[in-house]
Amino acid sequence: MPPNIIAIDGPAASGKSTLGRRLADALGYLFFDTGVMYRAVTWGALQRGIPITDEAAVTALAESAQIDVRPPSKEDGRPCDVLLDGVDVTWETRRPEVDANVSPVSAYPGVRRALTIQQRRIGLRGRVVMVGRDIGTVVLPEADLKVYLDASPEERARRRYLEIINRGETADYEQILAGVRKRDEIDSGRAVAPLRPAEDAVILDSDQLDADQVFARVEALCKK
Ligand code: C5P
Repeated sequence: MPPNIIAIDGPAASGKSTLGRRLADALGYLFFDTGVMYRAVTWGALQRGIPITDEAAVTALAESAQIDVRPPSKEDGRPCDVLLDGVDVTWETRRPEVDANVSPVSAYPGVRRALTIQQRRIGLRGRVVMVGRDIGTVVLPEADLKVYLDASPEERARRRYLEIINRGETADYEQILAGVRKRDEIDSGRAVAPLRPAEDAVILDSDQLDADQVFARVEALCKK
């Protein structure tokens, strides 16, 4: 029997989503990327003109917003649909202004509380691969398998850069690297649910391993 609840954590662009999706497909499990929820709240705040520094207003938005994550309805490369109050915001949540503002939003304790409750409810149903920063430590500490996927900031920035270039857009590597470092700093330094491996997590470094090798390692862990 494969593990029922699988938690995958790690910094931005360490390959968590690629691994998580593949694993969920192989096991016939639900893939749930919790980062999209923080992104949806961030986009909602930007769009409504709520200052990101206004903790009370951003928290109220997180508490009242209806965020749905569903299987992809279009074949335009999206891994899933992200709906905010019924509106498709899938690609908006990937915009650079969301990248730049999502870490401060996700550092607000009230925002985390609101989203963690929803994530936990979905995760406890089981047969799930849940991906984020605090799944193994806070959201689902009872997960049967915890993986912490790490990689250097340079390698992660390189991947993000290629992702954007391959979409036909322009990108600046140094700027992306600075953004990755900034997000690491905020995600690891925040008071509530900071990014760190759970004590019982298996740590994999994807600088040394390509996507196939990472998948093979985790698949082997699932068969143990
Ligand atoms: O994984 P992704 O880069 O889409 O996540 C966006 C941001 O959401 C992260 O930089 C982090 O600040 C936040 N996040 C979080 N906890 C999670 C998932 C994401 O704080 N479980």
